Amino acid sequence: MAGIPCTPEELKPPAEGQLAKVVDGKVVVPDNPVVVFIEGDGIGPEIMASARKVLDAAISKVYGTQRKIVWWEMAAGEKAQQLCGKLLPEATIEAIKMTRLGLKGPLTTPVGSGFRSLNVAIRMLLDLYSNIRPVKWYGQPAPHRYADKVNFVVFRENTEDVYAGIEWPMGSQEALKIIEFLKKEFGIELPKDSGIGIKPISEFKTKRHMRRAMEWAISHGNKHVTIMHKGNIMKYTEGAFRAWAYEVAVQEFREYVVTEEELWEKYNGQLPEGKILVNDRIADNMLQQIITRPWDYEVIVTPNLNGDYISDEANALVGGIGMAPGMNMGDAIAVGEPVHGTAPKYAGKNVINPTAEILSGVLLVADFMGWREVRPVVEYAIRKAISEKIVTYDLARHMPGVEPVKTTEYTDALVGFIKEADLGEVLGKQ
Ligand code: NAD
Repeated sequence: MAGIPCTPEELKPPAEGQLAKVVDGKVVVPDNPVVVFIEGDGIGPEIMASARKVLDAAISKVYGTQRKIVWWEMAAGEKAQQLCGKLLPEATIEAIKMTRLGLKGPLTTPVGSGFRSLNVAIRMLLDLYSNIRPVKWYGQPAPHRYADKVNFVVFRENTEDVYAGIEWPMGSQEALKIIEFLKKEFGIELPKDSGIGIKPISEFKTKRHMRRAMEWAISHGNKHVTIMHKGNIMKYTEGAFRAWAYEVAVQEFREYVVTEEELWEKYNGQLPEGKILVNDRIADNMLQQIITRPWDYEVIVTPNLNGDYISDEANALVGGIGMAPGMNMGDAIAVGEPVHGTAPKYAGKNVINPTAEILSGVLLVADFMGWREVRPVVEYAIRKAISEKIVTYDLARHMPGVEPVKTTEYTDALVGFIKEADLGEVLGKQ
């Protein structure tokens, strides 16, 4: 643990790496970028070790000695408490600001400390406003009939909505004051025993989020961007989200965008080559549609609460939490992190599935840093491991007769498949 800084004054990026730069608001990544990693709590150290190993192997396979990540460890959670006497040292936040690139493991949500959640604190301090969760099937046992056709990315707004944490319990002074205010100013009668929560959704935060989603769709060659909202009921929050998101699409990305209305009015229902269909779906319908017609969706852009619901539902379709990656993104800054938590009962047992952390790293490296070839190579290895029944306990228990392998054995298998891969063939299939 020696050498992990606690204060900003101690920060000294590894000399063999270079820092990513920001040019015109976009990240420019050198061939030897410094990337911050935070192991996290519980199973964090095991999955982080696995992710770094697999990512390094894939980068070396694709780029030889031309490109390499220079990993820089920072602490958060229990490790930081031991080392620095606090759960979230300033150095950790400053290091990510400095490098713009981070990969983290899960962190225990501290009970009774100053933090609502450490993860939320990190997102807020770095203004990581878009949470991105790709949902894709790699051959694992899955409950859905069309699991092979599920391949979309949920863009969940990360900083506002009912998740902004503006709420007061029933009977509190604040709640009573608001109830009184509503009665006096607007004649609205609420029961006195109401808890109160506030749902802010702003134009600025909606628009920056939608911009990231449109940029993703363009850079990934997607043909569908769908705005998920409950604007028919919550007109000035979710309805406004829908309106502002459309505004960004048609005002800032006009050359790419065809709206659903235009599709029928101008194009007889046929999306022209090179265009992106931007449409919207009401949240409850959307939750059905990803089950009944998953192939119609590629990028789903939504406020915070809807995003929470749909990403869990979506992950269940393709087989669960050990395979579910995520990334939090802001202005020219991103931190990969799996959807799952610290799974404390499995910590240190070398049994858990590191795939979610590995794929979170792929999001950072391939999708955010732009080292695109890393994705098909890692995905090839994951598919091959699953098809050869080399899987950890969480998948093995749904595969009759299959004995689970350890986390480290699975990791070594992935590295082996990456080393042996026929690059021409793997990249050719992209
Ligand atoms: P959890 O996701 O840690 O674990 C729930 C169960 O899911 C585990 O018991 C295990 O059966 C399974 N599981 C999770 N990850 C797995 C993996 N990689 N491989 C195989 N099986 C896996 O959820 P929890 O038990 O509710 O939360 C534990 C702690 O994690 C809490 O302190 C919580 O606040 C925190 N948490 C952190 C994050 C984060 O850091 N982003 C996210 C969620 C929860």
